[in-house]
Order: sequence, then structure tokens, then C-alpha cells
Amino acid sequence: MDFFDVHTHTFSSDKNVFSIVNTYPNSSNFSQPFSIGIHPWFINIDKIEEEIFILESKLEHKNCFALGECGLDKLIAVDFERQKEVFKKQIQLSEKYKKPLIIHCVKAHQEIIEIKKEVNPKQVWILHGFNKNKQLAERLLKNGIILSFGSAIIKNKKLQEVFLELPISSILLETDTSELEIQEIYQKASEIKNSSLTDLQLAIYQNFKRIFIE
Ligand SMILES: [Zn+2]
Repeated sequence: MDFFDVHTHTFSSDKNVFSIVNTYPNSSNFSQPFSIGIHPWFINIDKIEEEIFILESKLEHKNCFALGECGLDKLIAVDFERQKEVFKKQIQLSEKYKKPLIIHCVKAHQEIIEIKKEVNPKQVWILHGFNKNKQLAERLLKNGIILSFGSAIIKNKKLQEVFLELPISSILLETDTSELEIQEIYQKASEIKNSSLTDLQLAIYQNFKRIFIE
């Protein structure tokens, strides 16, 4: 396995890629490594109990590698306090089943940090699709949150500068919903870091192993 895609919405048949496919409580395909969570966009309060019940059963599945994506989003209509409630329930499950947490966050980074301080989780938290500034990146890292970068690093010059300065030990890569191959993201990431592709692959592999296997 040469490439690790920590968060994607597409099943891959490429033997060189290990990807964690995002699923939802109503998904039916768990044949490949997956994460499962209640996304803030799809919170339906009438179904929460049933969905938490499904999560609990899937978190014990041998292909389950993480809980998520779940999180907080200030640009949607779903009541923010309700989002926090559902997020915190999932944090408890991540701790109970010992699965890292994959986080979706839109304009709520401060709240994520506050909640992390409040619950002091043992499991690793991964903020997926990071595309903000260096100051915020450093604040998240200082609070022990891993940052996952995706297609935005291909063209976003400011984000490339942020990526260049961050320690490689706190970084993962992902394709999310983009059409790109994870190989293209690795290629760009190695160019930005002025490293060889092989060195980058090794570093990401070590992060992956530390977070998901050990
Ligand atoms: Zn996603």
C-alpha cells in the first residue's frame, strides 16, 4: 500500500491506495475500510436515537477505522446547540469504541477547540479538508488536532504556504468529494514540502500507522 486517503466518498479499486470511505447510518456498503458518522448537514432529530444505535453496531465492524465525519457547521440552518449535542454524543462513541474522530468544521474552529479541552479525549481528532490560515492551523495543532489536506492544496497558494510550514507528523491527505486521485495530492504535497515523493509517502504512512493501527 503506497498511498493513504483518510477521507473519501468514493470506493477505490486501486490496490496501491488504502482509503477510508465515509459512510452514513443509512449506507449499505461496508466492504472496504470505512468511517461512519452523523454529518451535521443531515441531523434529523427524530432519527438520532436510531442512528446512534446503528453507529454503535458499525463501530465494531472489522472494516471500521474511524468515527465521522461529524462536527459543527455555522453555515447551515440546523440549530447550533443541537449540532453540538450530536457532536458530543459521537465524541463519546469515539472514546467508547476507541476510534479516531474525523471532523467536519465550518466557521466553528474555536468551538471544536473548546469542546476538546472540555472532554479531553484519548482518541485522535482529525480535522478534514483544512483550508484556513497558518495561525488557525497552529492553534489546532497546539491543541493536538491532526489536519487533513485535500484538493485545495493543488491551487490555493496561501494554503500551500501554510502546508509548507506545518510539521509533517501532524498531517494527513485526502480526496474527499474531489475528482482527483490521491496520488495527485501526494505529488503536489511533496512538491510544496520540497521533499521526494518517497519521503512524503513514508511520513504519511507513519502518521497513518500511529493513528489508526497502533
Ligand atoms: Zn467529506
